[in-house]
This record gives sequence, C-alpha cells and structure tokens, in this order.
Amino acid sequence: MSMIENRWSDKEAETWLTQAGDDPADRDLALRVYTSRLIGQNPDLVMHGGGNTSVKVTRPDLFGTPQQVLHVKGSGWDLDTILAPGLPGVRLAPLHDLRRLDALSDEQMVNVQRQNLLDSTAPNPSVETLLHAYLPHKYVDHTHATPFLVLANLPYAETVARQIFGDRLAIVPYIMPGFKLSKVAAEAYEANPDVEGILLLNHGHFAFGETARESYERIVAHTNEAAAYLGMDSATRLGHRTTATKPETLPMLRGILAERAGPDAPMPVLDLRNGPEVMGFLDRPDVAELSTRGVASPDHVIRTKGAPVVITADHLAQGRDGIAAAIDDFSAAYRDYFNRQNARVGGIKTMLTPLPNLAWIHGVGLVGIGANAKAASVAADIGEQNLRVRAVAEDAGGFRPIGEDDLFDMEYWSLEQAKLGKGTPPALGGRVVMITGAAGAIGQATARAFADQGAQLVLVDRDEAALKTALEMLGTHHTAIALDVTAENAAESAIQRAVETFGGLDILVSNAGAALTGSMMELAESDLRDAFELNFFAHHRFARAASALFLRQERGGQILFNISKQAINPGRNFGAYGLPKASTLFLMRQLALELGEFGIRVNGINADRIRSGLLTDAFINERATARGTDAAGYMAGNLLRREVEAQHVARAFVALALSERTTAHVMTVDGGNIEAALR
Ligand code: ZN
Repeated sequence: MSMIENRWSDKEAETWLTQAGDDPADRDLALRVYTSRLIGQNPDLVMHGGGNTSVKVTRPDLFGTPQQVLHVKGSGWDLDTILAPGLPGVRLAPLHDLRRLDALSDEQMVNVQRQNLLDSTAPNPSVETLLHAYLPHKYVDHTHATPFLVLANLPYAETVARQIFGDRLAIVPYIMPGFKLSKVAAEAYEANPDVEGILLLNHGHFAFGETARESYERIVAHTNEAAAYLGMDSATRLGHRTTATKPETLPMLRGILAERAGPDAPMPVLDLRNGPEVMGFLDRPDVAELSTRGVASPDHVIRTKGAPVVITADHLAQGRDGIAAAIDDFSAAYRDYFNRQNARVGGIKTMLTPLPNLAWIHGVGLVGIGANAKAASVAADIGEQNLRVRAVAEDAGGFRPIGEDDLFDMEYWSLEQAKLGKGTPPALGGRVVMITGAAGAIGQATARAFADQGAQLVLVDRDEAALKTALEMLGTHHTAIALDVTAENAAESAIQRAVETFGGLDILVSNAGAALTGSMMELAESDLRDAFELNFFAHHRFARAASALFLRQERGGQILFNISKQAINPGRNFGAYGLPKASTLFLMRQLALELGEFGIRVNGINADRIRSGLLTDAFINERATARGTDAAGYMAGNLLRREVEAQHVARAFVALALSERTTAHVMTVDGGNIEAALR
C-alpha cells in the first residue's frame, strides 16, 4: 500500500479550468490552485503553512507587452484552502537579475519581491520565491513530507537518497531559506538538468514539471519511494485522543504555565494527543535524549520551539511541584540557549518567551500548548509528525536534524516570526467557556458572543440534535457534550470534556433552566422538588465541579449564573421557578463570599421576557391577550419600551466576564422593570 494517495482527477481539473475561463495564464493558475490543494490536504505532505508551490505564466503588461510572471504562494495562505489570490504574481525578470548579486539581505529580497508584484495589495510572496524563480520548470512544488523529513535527517542522508533515487534528485546541503539557498539549489539543478526534483537536507523536498499534474505526481511518487524504503506504509495518524489518564495533570500544567508567564497572563489552551503511536513513543527509554535533538524541518521551530518540555513519571509523582520543576528546568535551559546564541550573533536579538509550546508527558500523552485552540492544535499536529519522524529515523540510522546555531537562526529570523502574525488578540482569546443549556436561544446567543471574543466553547445541552447544530454554527475549535444537567455526575462529565479538549476551564456560564407553572396551593411537592433539581441543584453541582477545577488550576476562574427576575419579583403561578431561582441568587452570593480569596468571581444575570423555549409564541399570545395588548406590546412592556432579545443577555454575560473587579453582582437585563429593580 502506498503511503500517499495520488488524488489527481481529470474531472476535477476540468472543473477548475472551466471556472478559470479562456485566458491561458488563468488556466495555468487554476491547475496550480487545484494541485496545491491536493498537496495541502494531505498532512503527510505539508501542514500548517509549511511547503509552497508556484507556476510561471505569460501575461501582458499595461501596454500589451508580454511578460513572464511567477505566481507563488503568498504568506497567510495555507495550501489546503488556497485560491488564486493566495498565489500573487511577481514579475520574473527582476528576480532573475538578482541572481548576479553575490549577496542580498532578507529586507532587500522582500522589498524587491514586493516592488514587482502585479497587485500592489497582494500578500508577501513566500520566503522561498527565489528558489521557485531560478528553476526553469513551469510548475514547482515544495513539501515537508513525513518520509522526506526522515530521509533528510538521516546521518547518511545523501547515500540513502542515492540508493532510492539514483540521479533523479539533486541534493542540496542545509542552508537557511532565502537568497543563498536559491542560488545553490539552482546550481545543483543546472549541474544535472535531468533531475525531477531536489532533496534539501534537513529540510524537505522539491519536485517540478511542465504540467501541474506532472509536478504533483512526482511529489507523490518520490514521497512514496522514500516511504517504501523506510517501511512507512500508512498515513501518520493525527489528532487521536482517548480518555485521559491522570487528567488532573492538564489543569495543573495550564495554571503553572500562566503563573510563570506573568501576574495577569491568561492560561494557555492545551491540545492532548494520546493515541497508541504517541503513547508507545513516550514509553521509549531514550525519550529524554530524543527530545533535545531538534525539529524535523527548520520552520517547525516557530510552532513548537526546538524542544518539548519532558514531564517524567518522577515529576508526576511529585504532583504540582514536580510539573513546575519540569517547566522551570525547561525555561532555564531555554534562557541558556538564548544567551549562548545571542552572544554568537552579537547580542542583537530579544528573547521570546522561555515557556514551552509542546509537552511530552509520561503516561499522559503529547500536549500542544498555545494562546488559543488553533495554535495549540498546530503545535500538537507538528509535534505528532515529529514523533513519527524521530521514531522511524532512529530505527533507520538516526535522527540528526540541524544543530543549535541553525535552529536559533531560524527561530529568531524576522521572516519566520512574521508568519505568526501580529496584532492584539481578542479580549477573551483562548479562554475556555462552558455553557449549559447551550442549544437554547440564550445559550446559543451567549456561545456566539463569547466565540466572537475569541473564546473556545464547551457546549452542554440534553438535546443532542440541537446541540450538534449549535456546534456547527459556531465553527471550528469548539466542543459539545450532550447530557441532562440534573443527571448524576453530569457536571463531572462536562468538566472532564473541557479538560480533555482544552486542558481546563476559565468560565462557567450556568444557564440551563426551565419553568414549571402552577399556583403554590396546587403544585405537587414532587414537581417542586424537580424544579429545584434543575433550577438550583444543577447550578450548584456545575458550580462546585467547575470550582474544584479552578482550584486545581490555581488561576482564579469565573461562574456566571442565569438567574431570573423571578428570584426577587414573584410572578403569579411562577413559584416553582422563582423559589429555586431565589436560592440560586443566594448561591451566587454565597459562592462569591467563599471563593473570592481564590480569585474566583461569581456573578449573575436577571433577565426577563426573552423569546425562548421558556417563553414560546403561544405563551406570549396568551399573556398579551390577558393584558389586553398584542405580542409586540407585551414583549416591549418595560421602561425602555423595547423587546429584550437573547443577544442582549449574551452581551451582558460577556460584559460581566470582562469586569475584572466585579463579583457577587447581579446585572438586570429586562428593559427596565421598577418592581424587579434590585435595591
Ligand atoms: Zn520549506
């Protein structure tokens, strides 16, 4: 079985061509987009911004004179989802002129590339643009394929590559991407113009051809040949997660990382991978030594740093102190590395955070660490690929990637750091927020409002179908768990989901509730008890489970209750709702009192008259008729004379979440009701 499937389809290619129209350059570019996506959609070829592709076309300038144009991957685009604007056009002749120079600074290179863009607003062309430019082939593809990363880091990589490929690949020693690598690679090609591709030692693979298909199929064939030689016959399994062993480890790790990052630093998101391949690797006796060897392809360093923190069984046996010691040892080693390397380059660099982006935890798994779920998952994916590369390479002769000097040059290269992007993170970026009753009107609006602020959501609801829809509408990097909040251990199961998916929790929005109507004289006691189960005890259980987790993280936390105006202003026949809600109001104050010293804030919302499962259209009409008005009049029956919607409640929850010195507070969201005003 081949490791990489050839996914070329004449039919799909035809679809891209049809969309492109008649212009030959546009048609060439359309096929470039198509095969770029084929490559990008296989993580064993490229992942997360690694790899790049290009095509050379002829386009007329403004005066109608034909000019050679290189369309090459622009920064900020990933190959798996790339479109034509992600492959900006650069005039080729000025790039060729540069080759006459002996040296060219990175700044000059970027500047010339930008000066020659056809569209002045296009993204920056890849740092490997000149390498694409200096190869004469129409289509050029560059990957960091898993088998090539094994091959490229073997101690006798060149000899092995000759055994596999004979003279079909040129071999280029490790040089950092940029002008010099481009010239050396072009010379290696020119020394043997019959080659089908290039092996970049310690880095990756290039293939090229006269058509998109030829170049793509060479990528696939070469990669499969390397894979077959190395005995790799299956795809790398990424993202495998099962029930966590020692789940308490993750919240502690989150808390320690935030504490070491600074007094107000938010906790990172953790992405756990604990499939059999990962667990088998972490059982190796040489794990500690393998952890310090470096990364499989140099640009991995900006996502994972040069090494993971290794948390051993001994560390775990010492609990929090042991994990903290592992982090501190990692940071001390990172500082030494930085100081040593910064001295070598003349003291011109500023140290990045000395905290890890990746953890190898004995018996627990591999953990990606990031400011949000996306960054954590990128680190974990690259971390998993690196585990496989190390494991296969060690069996095939040894994993020998670039050394510390080259690694530092890459990690602190401004053009690499630029790939990570800048800008202010959103107010709640990477905060883990659990919402109960998440599939209802207020729950969904609240989930959306927190997601808009960058939060990762854990949706909880007993309606599985509605929950699935709610999760899909929210997009990627959120999770959902279907359960009845009144069931035994429901709170513990939901908390476990948050820990296994994101490493812990920052905010609980305890929102699930339902009203049962009837006068106090007529209510069955069992109904009243059921009402307390849902509208009081479930809030208490979730708050207690969340607080236990917060205490393990030692980094504060927040609980937000959806209370109700009924808690202070009884409505006729709403006793079975108001009584437990009044208790929940008091619970909010009691918890605020008891948990304040741990930095845990507890607040609530008193909302009223929101269209939801509680307040259906039929019910609204009935109430409106009873009061001699229509539905709109009933819904706007407040001081502001405006209907209160779920989104207004949602924004109030977010406002409370952002109010850093507020606890034991109830915010009223009812459009104004003087009888229900708190005094
Ligand atoms: Zn590369």
